[in-house]
Amino acid sequence: MKGRLLSQGYEESSSEFDADIVIFNTCMVRETAERKIYGKMGQIHKKGKEGVQIALGGCVTQVKGEELYEKYTYVPLIFGSRNKHNIARQLEQISDSQRVIDLSFEDEDLEYALNASRDSEYTAFVEIMKGCNNYCSYCIVPFARGGELSNTPERVLAEIQDLLNRGFREIILLGQNVNSYGIPFTDGIQREIDFPELLKKILKFSDLFRLRFITSHPKDFNDELADIIAEEPKMAHSLHLPVQSGSNEVLKRMNRKYTREEYVGKIVSLREKLPDIALSTDMIFGFPGESEADFLRSVDLLKDIRYKTGFLFKYTPRAGTAAAEYEDNIPVEEKLRRLNYAIDIQKEITREIASDYIGTTQEVLFDGKDKTGKKISGRDTHDMIVVADFPDDYIGKVVRMKIYDGNSFTLFGRPENE
Ligand code: SAH
Ligand code: SF4
Repeated sequence: MKGRLLSQGYEESSSEFDADIVIFNTCMVRETAERKIYGKMGQIHKKGKEGVQIALGGCVTQVKGEELYEKYTYVPLIFGSRNKHNIARQLEQISDSQRVIDLSFEDEDLEYALNASRDSEYTAFVEIMKGCNNYCSYCIVPFARGGELSNTPERVLAEIQDLLNRGFREIILLGQNVNSYGIPFTDGIQREIDFPELLKKILKFSDLFRLRFITSHPKDFNDELADIIAEEPKMAHSLHLPVQSGSNEVLKRMNRKYTREEYVGKIVSLREKLPDIALSTDMIFGFPGESEADFLRSVDLLKDIRYKTGFLFKYTPRAGTAAAEYEDNIPVEEKLRRLNYAIDIQKEITREIASDYIGTTQEVLFDGKDKTGKKISGRDTHDMIVVADFPDDYIGKVVRMKIYDGNSFTLFGRPENE
């Protein structure tokens, strides 16, 4: 959206309180994210620039746009989760007397993607598919984003070619379930290409340094994909494989369609092929009916697998999903106790894994400044952040770095031969 608006002559404001227009792109996955939006919106309405226009779009509006349109009469524009590319046109339609609500589903064109304003000049996200058909019982995404649709391979390859021509080195393919790539395509024309085939085509780009993807659903993660990650030198040695729970009972009620044993089996087999693969996961604590024993099975799985990173959440019901009909029988304090216990265990594992890097050498693609603005930072194949005392002209370069220090989130390195 930022890219489209900049290309239409809009300028970015230094603060949301100085802006003529403030756009909220909303997330509905968890209640906490949703709640924050309303508070922030009220703040901008009261303390923002005189006459500020607020536009509200994304997943929350896709699900409850009509209700919000009635409730927040000071918001002149409500758009959806699949028509963000029309933002400039929608903004033109609003006036003092005209409010707009547009929740239509439309696919954005290649031009929209090519105009994207990106944070990094070397690492780029490329959306290959959108939506989800999996209906995990806790999850609002299938309702908020609609069914699965893939961008055509012609479009994906053209976008990547353009990025590589502009000097990008690393591509991260995006989709709620990348394994479903190709069924069906946005243009309705069937092609004989699936996700592994798409990866192979992208890996042929000679200017590409590294390729990653998120997210792969464990039920669809297979040997073919494991082989590509293990054998193709440009594939990153990192994989996000969200498990959600370590208990088969809970997995079943979550409608995840795999058992703990099947999940662990896939990881064991991948680790046999590629021992240094760095794994990350998502887990939900306090799902309806999660017993103490179920909870301990999740904790036990964290200890067994030893993920590099765990994104751990407390369950919040989302109206309209199947689990919202289950009795939410775990008090919030208990959900938090379980969550915090698991977070402490994961923190320790993350810290231990990071400390194992000290003394090793990693190939790092530097792609920007670090948080202090004084050093530069990049990532290695395991998605570890490595910071170095280099001049800015190292940004965009790949350097073999010897790691001499680190904490859970950041490693510090110097060139291997120094
Ligand atoms: N498509 C991705 C993730 C989508 S949502 C996948 O299938 O893995 C990101 C994460 O949010 C999920 O993996 C899940 O752990 C968490 N999440 C989704 N709905 C939730 C809910 N109702 N309560 C708490 N966490 C939730
Ligand atoms: Fe949600 Fe499940 Fe789809 Fe992921 S796979 S987006 S968790 S429904």
